[in-house]
Amino acid sequence: MTSKRTRDRLVSRLQEQGVTDQAVLDVVSNTPRHLFIDEALSHRAYEDTALPIGFGQTISQPYIVARMTELVLAAAGKLDSVLEIGTGCGYQTSVLAQLVPKVYSVERIKPLQDKAKQRLKGLGIKNVEFRYADGGFGWPGEAKQFDAILSAAAPRSLPQSLCDQLAPGGVLVIPVGGDTQELTVVVRDAETDKYHKQVYEAVKFVPLLSGLA
Ligand code: SAH
Repeated sequence: MTSKRTRDRLVSRLQEQGVTDQAVLDVVSNTPRHLFIDEALSHRAYEDTALPIGFGQTISQPYIVARMTELVLAAAGKLDSVLEIGTGCGYQTSVLAQLVPKVYSVERIKPLQDKAKQRLKGLGIKNVEFRYADGGFGWPGEAKQFDAILSAAAPRSLPQSLCDQLAPGGVLVIPVGGDTQELTVVVRDAETDKYHKQVYEAVKFVPLLSGLA
């Protein structure tokens, strides 16, 4: 159920759906998704579907994780630091952490983040800094700028606060909307400092909620 062959079948499905970045596909193939969900559901870990992780939240569908990661890698110039909003179970976090030097991850539900931290530790992933915070305003406390920001939760409209935390040339990948949502990519032009927005496919994410749970 959780063998390399099962994972490779998932990778083939992602390729069929149009994911082409080999580095992303390799990381998906090497990441044990079954360790990020409840044991009772682990037989479904390599299906290309979102699954419940408690607290009314879900682990993102592998296709979406791969697609968003691919968009980050394609659009960003230098990629030293990535901010993730919505750690959840830590699956997307661990995919990112295998591809970029430093990941910052924010979550508003403490028990979810605590579990995610333990999982990443168990997998020997050390380049992630976690904060229990409302990520709607980005990384709290410091006026940091990121080469990429990836949100796993959907705000109703594009938050300017997140655009402002992009480094020059940085990219924000985020689902935007309510009942219908669009996967949106914003690039902060390094020369003109203007924001360029591009809209991709329709998606379905949990809402970006404000405040701590
Ligand atoms: N990529 C994660 C997806 C988790 S679902 C995974 O694969 O597990 C989205 C997560 O965003 C949820 O855990 C939810 O609690 C979190 N979230 C929603 N609004 C948030 C906010 N304002 N700040 C931080 N996290 C938020």
